[in-house]
Amino acid sequence: MPTKLAIVHDDQSSGQTRCLTCGSYVTEGFVRVFGDNENDLYACLECTTMGALRAGDGVHPD
Ligand SMILES: [Zn+2]
Repeated sequence: MPTKLAIVHDDQSSGQTRCLTCGSYVTEGFVRVFGDNENDLYACLECTTMGALRAGDGVHPD
């Protein structure tokens, strides 16, 4: 009886990029624009707003 929670992919070699906060898939271009220099994205349109992303929410909150 598999649940949705069992379907989690932690494989980072898939070439897919994800929001590190909510886990939604985002495009590489999106990460390049709104993520940090290591292609890490900490917010996306699924979990924040475009305004917040433009203000730098996608970069690690440090
Ligand atoms: Zn997100």
